[in-house]
Amino acid sequence: MGNIIDGKALSRKKREEITQQAEDFSRRHGRPPGLAVVLVGQDPASAIYVRNKRAGCEQCGIRSFEYLLNESTTQKELLALIDRLNADNDVDGILVQLPLPSHLEEKEVLLRIDPSKDVDGFHPYSMGRLLMGEPTLVPCTPRGIVYMLDEHGVDLKGKDAVIIGRSNIVGKPAALLLMMRHATITICHSRTRNLAGKIAAADVVVAAIGRAEFVRGEWIKDGAVVIDVGMNRTETGLKGDVQFDEAKKRASLITPVPGGVGPMTITMLLDNTLIAARARMS
Ligand code: NAP
Repeated sequence: MGNIIDGKALSRKKREEITQQAEDFSRRHGRPPGLAVVLVGQDPASAIYVRNKRAGCEQCGIRSFEYLLNESTTQKELLALIDRLNADNDVDGILVQLPLPSHLEEKEVLLRIDPSKDVDGFHPYSMGRLLMGEPTLVPCTPRGIVYMLDEHGVDLKGKDAVIIGRSNIVGKPAALLLMMRHATITICHSRTRNLAGKIAAADVVVAAIGRAEFVRGEWIKDGAVVIDVGMNRTETGLKGDVQFDEAKKRASLITPVPGGVGPMTITMLLDNTLIAARARMS
């Protein structure tokens, strides 16, 4: 595979470990770890994610509880379901699939999830702990990124890392995790000046923009590590945020799309469920 980070292979390896650990948990506690997934409405992409999460749970011996709610579900009904799941001892993790239909108030819903069951890591408590450098449950995609870097022996200490994107689900937590590994962080966004120059100076580039092939190969420094989070559906298929063929010639390591960061995300959700289950039972 040369300089390509194989997210599928790493994900398989991690899932084997999770399966083993879920078995140990079940033996010790007389029940498997449990993940509740809540989907409101019919968004086709969300439905696929939910299906993949269920399949991941089945594969690893995690019990999945699925709540497929009507588009017309009210805020009150959704909050009442979260309350029930918070109180359910067989449920270790709660995930509300985003985006919610526009009549629902996302922030209030995420706030309602018991932080000890916040396997997406989006609750302000989880985010705050991460910001303080004392993480509890960490968002799955950034955790997957760090896992891949660790597995490839990338030492981040003192490295210059440029993160493009400042979302709460990817850019910000990824920056915090890399900073915890002692990288020096630059977070870029749509108002950043001289993005190409910043990328050209980076030892590590994390692209989480949502624009197909936006980062040009010629911007990448020779030997840099490139993590492409982007998932952009185009007429010619799924594309990342980085011009892969060109960037690959310069990078020492690079993730492809598909088959890079994507497969790691659900795997880290399963791992977060196990972490939450263990913490709740300790
Ligand atoms: P998002 O919330 O839309 O954030 C995109 C970020 O990119 C924003 O901070 C935005 O800046 C920045 N940006 C947009 N245009 C830019 C430009 N021209 N130059 C520099 N920065 C620019 O997206 P997200 O949720 O973080 O997701 C990013 C990508 O990752 C998407 O393709 C998404 O599908 C993918 N994703 C993949 C996974 C996975 O499992 N593989 C998981 C999550 C997301 P402003 O803040 O200034 O607007």
